[in-house]
Amino acid sequence: MSGIEVDKVTKSYGVVTALDDVSLKVAPGEFVSLVGPSGCGKTTLMKIIAGLDRADDGRVSIADRDVSKLGAADRDVAMVFQNYALYPHLTARQNIAVPLVMRTMTAAQRLPFIGGFVPGTGERRSTIRREVEQTAELLAIGHLLERKPAQLSGGQRQRVALARAIVRRPLAFLMDEPLSNLDASLRVQTRKEIVDLHRRVGASTIYVTHDQAEAMTMSDRVAVMMEGKILQLGTPEEIYLDPWDLRVAAFVGSPRINALPADVDTDGQVRVDGVPMDVTSRVRGRVTLAVRAEDLALVRADGLPATIEHVEFLGEAVLLHARHAMSGALLIARLERDHRHRLPRGGAVHFRPKPDRVFLFDEAGRRVTRVQPTGAVGRETALV
Ligand code: ATP
Repeated sequence: MSGIEVDKVTKSYGVVTALDDVSLKVAPGEFVSLVGPSGCGKTTLMKIIAGLDRADDGRVSIADRDVSKLGAADRDVAMVFQNYALYPHLTARQNIAVPLVMRTMTAAQRLPFIGGFVPGTGERRSTIRREVEQTAELLAIGHLLERKPAQLSGGQRQRVALARAIVRRPLAFLMDEPLSNLDASLRVQTRKEIVDLHRRVGASTIYVTHDQAEAMTMSDRVAVMMEGKILQLGTPEEIYLDPWDLRVAAFVGSPRINALPADVDTDGQVRVDGVPMDVTSRVRGRVTLAVRAEDLALVRADGLPATIEHVEFLGEAVLLHARHAMSGALLIARLERDHRHRLPRGGAVHFRPKPDRVFLFDEAGRRVTRVQPTGAVGRETALV
């Protein structure tokens, strides 16, 4: 089993710094997603790992071997990209076989007609045939092998492309937005298939996506990238429950985390527009208080006053969108479905963040860790 290591990689295109001192270790057999907004450097990092682009500085190792100076063909990694680039004139079977034919057969053996007379050709071809069929079974496309790409759906084509990557048994997989051409339901289904497949194949995988839900549901660990840097690398739970940076907290989770300007008094009391919250902090001055929608409780009074703008019915719950009176910020609370009848548009509500679920960030957006809950928003204060 082999891992991938990126060590202090830097890459600029003219004045644009695409990667700024990026380090990342993917353990053998691990599935790591790179997630971040458009332009944050995800594809550049993948290309550098794949050998399709060169870093200005830094090192890439695959299976404990420094591959920084090797070309893509010598790195033994398989790539699956958004546009699956199947050969249109070849059947699914032939498409999947391409890497094996290129790697295991000589030029003479590959010749049409004549190749059949070259010693060993028949044996090679039947080995390839067996491997292609086994891989196709793994992806449930055994029945599609004689079709050409034009006769396949988008999801089926994507699976043929995956099979072509897997059949080589590479040291590692690099996948760059492989699902973005699929419709919503197929995306969810194929997500699961890729995860199952990864478990069975077991090679280290780096998966690029701008979709945080995809990264959170598929990965062992997630690397959140912004402006050419990895801001945080952790399990989905760590990224969601313990974000180190306001940008990470804001990027991960849906709906987006609520963020309000706040002040910390000289005695450590945290206030939002003068309203004391049930937390204290050792850091004084201006901070940002952030709380997720499920951790914002509705209270009868003494909370953050807001005006209801919209109630979104999710089925199992509702999302209450309300405008905070002082800051003008939009607050979103996730509430039990039954509350929807008591939330008229334009109505006044009060919110309080659950004190043990409040995050504070300093003016540079770094998490303030020494935060103490001083109360609890419990049954007695929670409204309705
Ligand atoms: P997306 O999600 O939109 O694909 P990304 O996170 O993959 O974005 P990259 O494609 O890695 O981002 O680009 C990182 C930065 O480098 C961007 O500012 C981009 O404009 C720039 N960049 C990438 N490739 C080149 C290039 N060949 N020449 C000049 N600038 C480039």
